[in-house]
Amino acid sequence: MDPVEKILSLEQMNQWVVAEKAAGRRIGFTCGSFDLLHAGHVEYLGKARELCDRLIVAVNSDASVSRYKNPLRPIVPERERMYVVAGLAAVDAVTLMEEDRPLSLLLRWKPDLYIKGGDYAEDSLRSGEAVRAYGGKVEVVKSGFDTSSSKLIQRIELLTAHAVPEVAAAPSFGGLVLLDRDGTLIRNVPFLHDPAKVEILPGVIDGLLKLQAAGLRLAIVTNQQGIGLGYYKVQDFIAVNQRLLRELGARGVRISKIYFCPHSLGEQCSCRKPATGMITRAMRDFGAKPEHTVLIGDSEEDMQAGADAGCQTVRVGEAAFGAAAEQILSLLAKG
Ligand SMILES: [Mg+2]
Repeated sequence: MDPVEKILSLEQMNQWVVAEKAAGRRIGFTCGSFDLLHAGHVEYLGKARELCDRLIVAVNSDASVSRYKNPLRPIVPERERMYVVAGLAAVDAVTLMEEDRPLSLLLRWKPDLYIKGGDYAEDSLRSGEAVRAYGGKVEVVKSGFDTSSSKLIQRIELLTAHAVPEVAAAPSFGGLVLLDRDGTLIRNVPFLHDPAKVEILPGVIDGLLKLQAAGLRLAIVTNQQGIGLGYYKVQDFIAVNQRLLRELGARGVRISKIYFCPHSLGEQCSCRKPATGMITRAMRDFGAKPEHTVLIGDSEEDMQAGADAGCQTVRVGEAAFGAAAEQILSLLAKG
């Protein structure tokens, strides 16, 4: 049901109440500002609905909220507050309450129950006496949630008073190392999509630890044409990476990011190596200049991509990662 259909003018509500009473239904009434709807509201309206057959919610107008609560409130305008309340399954009808107090509406519709949420003592409800006088009952529903619109606002204020800390950089950021994955870090398995087939090549972990200890950030740049060709899905690719990152992580190696090209050759993208898209994006993300970036890979495409992006490049054969790491360190030391 469209929540708008539950929002009734006072005149429409007159007819609605008459019809519901004629059908023998117990009418419950409650009211409030419902400025930032929260768990306490939802719980109390749900409990209120359990006490009756039909629940009316009178939502305070913007002017009345400003008067009785705070001249700077509400945050959410009355039309939207009514819409949100009307969207709850517990609520059968919503109307706007122009006055600060519900007395005149209670006397107008004489609901069977006048229900309030929160810590109001039953007798302190000013309108309670009038309700009992016409034969109605007053119920107070307590919430188990320690929340309120005001508390949410305080929390937001507290959080906005704090600046988000800067990302802690490695103490001596000496540059960026972009690593090809297949054939460089792990044994090359064509269209690899099975995590069980991840095999880290000899020398890789020690080499990466050395680069990391020198203050270099590590990121992977990998072509994954198998995704574009439909041989495996991004989720399979991620599962393989998860296995690789877990094994590297267990040895203290941290890969900061993984860039991948999911396109097939035919798609003519700008990211598939030997194109430079992934490399320029990585340098931008890390704030690394080309002369402080080294690409390490096992193929001609890797070397071409790195050179075209203006980086230094190191070609590695299987089982030669240790020597390549030394080469990277000397290149960056010169740069
Ligand atoms: Mg490769």
